[in-house]
Amino acid sequence: MSVNIAIDGPAGAGKSTIAKKVASKLSFIYVDTGAMYRAMALHLLKQNVSLEDAKAISQSCQSAHISIVYDGGEQQVILNGENVTSMLRTESVGNMASVSSANPDVRAKLVSLQQELAASANVVMDGRDIGTVVLPKAQVKVYLTASSHTRALRRYKELLEKKEECELEAIEADIIDRDYRDMHREISPLRQAEDAVLVDSSDMTIEEVVNTIITLYDKAR
Ligand code: C5P
Repeated sequence: MSVNIAIDGPAGAGKSTIAKKVASKLSFIYVDTGAMYRAMALHLLKQNVSLEDAKAISQSCQSAHISIVYDGGEQQVILNGENVTSMLRTESVGNMASVSSANPDVRAKLVSLQQELAASANVVMDGRDIGTVVLPKAQVKVYLTASSHTRALRRYKELLEKKEECELEAIEADIIDRDYRDMHREISPLRQAEDAVLVDSSDMTIEEVVNTIITLYDKAR
């Protein structure tokens, strides 16, 4: 049986950085489920689907063929035959994903792909509903969070490094909006699974968080 580590938490909590490092230390595969929701959002944007039109989202998501491949250990997202990995991390795709991910047909499609991946390999998977819905039997479950200010600051520094124009206040407002949508949607809202361990990374280094999760994994073995 494959071993599954589930890491959930709000936007910007550092899930992907941490999950990648944990996966590399354990020689597991890292699965970034946010990238799948972003690829679906990109598909909807390309199709000019209106975010208010739930029926159109349900219909249009059926023509999105999303798969995951690994190149040098890095997850690549293939959308209808095209590698779209480099197009997924923009604010517009992220905002669209945060809305379209509330659609039940979008979720059904991506959750089964995630479960197939986790059944076939040892994975560290991050997202919003991994411990609660996708992998309820994961051997290790972590709810990783940090204050909205800390998360906004991290994102701000990341964007500055990429020389992208941005405002800290706008980023924090965006993060708060996204948290609200993720936590209050009807299907699979973001919440800590009852058996998940809460890790608040506001005052922790990346190494400290990684070591905390490795310790949890060692205990679960
Ligand atoms: O984590 P990331 O910011 O890349 O995720 C983009 C969006 O996808 C999130 O705002 C969230 O709404 C959605 N998502 C989700 N369930 C997951 C992963 C991401 O609803 N398991």
